[in-house]
Amino acid sequence: MQDLATALAARKQQQLYRSRQTLEGRQDVQLRIDGRDYLSFSSNDYLGLASHPRLVEALREGAERFGVGSGAAHLITGHSYAHQALEEDLAEFTGRPRALLFSTGYMANLGVVSALAGRGDHVFEDRLNHASLIDAAQLSGAKLVRYPHNDMPVLQKKLAQAKTGERLIASDAVFSMDGDCAPVAGLAGLATQHDAWLLIDEAHGFGVLGRQGRGWLLEQLPEVPDNVVLMATLGKGLGTFGAFVAGSEDLIETLIQQARTFIYTTAAPPALAWATRTALQLAREGDDLRENLRERVTQFRNGAAALGLPLMASDTPIQPLLVGDSGAALVLSQALRERGILVTAIRPPTVPKGAARLRITFSARHTAEQVDRLLEALAACMKRGSLAAR
Ligand SMILES: *Cc1c(COP(=O)(O)O)cnc(C)c1O
Repeated sequence: MQDLATALAARKQQQLYRSRQTLEGRQDVQLRIDGRDYLSFSSNDYLGLASHPRLVEALREGAERFGVGSGAAHLITGHSYAHQALEEDLAEFTGRPRALLFSTGYMANLGVVSALAGRGDHVFEDRLNHASLIDAAQLSGAKLVRYPHNDMPVLQKKLAQAKTGERLIASDAVFSMDGDCAPVAGLAGLATQHDAWLLIDEAHGFGVLGRQGRGWLLEQLPEVPDNVVLMATLGKGLGTFGAFVAGSEDLIETLIQQARTFIYTTAAPPALAWATRTALQLAREGDDLRENLRERVTQFRNGAAALGLPLMASDTPIQPLLVGDSGAALVLSQALRERGILVTAIRPPTVPKGAARLRITFSARHTAEQVDRLLEALAACMKRGSLAAR
């Protein structure tokens, strides 16, 4: 039996130890932790909907009408009018024939990949894909083939080499730790050319990018062919919880029959689905929110460039600063924290070795003054030598 204490101590020494912090109130750009107030740049609540009064009200109303627990899996008696109505809203919004709710994005990815691929098949994944997509391929039993980040020529070659079984390509739409986007039209072209499925994970694009917040895929590819599967989460841009898959009638029916992470789990609380209907409406009507978000991102990028900070090639609300060393990233995150600013240090294995970074994320609720405060704090920490200018 392994000695857990020794392994934990080693992890600490490598600056890879992780721990939680407890928020005393709501998720927002201002947080209270251990009795202290912080300005936060570290949530995925991009539109600032997580604590929106209309969502709180909708959740309360949903609870009055549908109770709290769903009481069963969707295929038993857990599928409520609230779930059904949300699925119909999502299908209409994405312009796809059907949508299917999952309890989380992680489960949606596991469910889709293992329903469409198995032993003898090939799953192709971008090197920077989210852990849930990698785990999904591994769970499916298919052969996992990884290609260099956004490298279409290599993907094409690898697709051509896989002669047997089903082929499924999976990619983040917006890469969660880098903030850049996948060439979804190119991916869809390759998928069609090689008779493959394409699964696009819109966790960080849905509600945030594109017309009315429809996401990166639908912005780039308004007419989605049936071999393209859209997965998006509801706990980030939409501010609630859960995920959905949108696609053809046959795809959704197949998932209902075969996706084990859909079948063998209790349906999420119907009140949550009810609140998400309101979140979808707010996101849809949220052009002013997205405009504010874009302005904050531009303000940050201009300010950071002027300071010579190591920005990455991202136009999205995910704006990482590459630090490299895990210890240095932690020191920097701690120095910002001492100034009342929360920015998460992201370390391996979430990112490749030697690519530790500060993951700065923006919300539509951030003000220009707050972004200035962040820039001033970064400038001060840089002067202290914790972040090398490039
Ligand atoms: C957060 C995330 C998920 C998981 O979604 P949850 O609903 O949080 O389980 C999946 N894919 C990507 C790219 C993510 O960032």
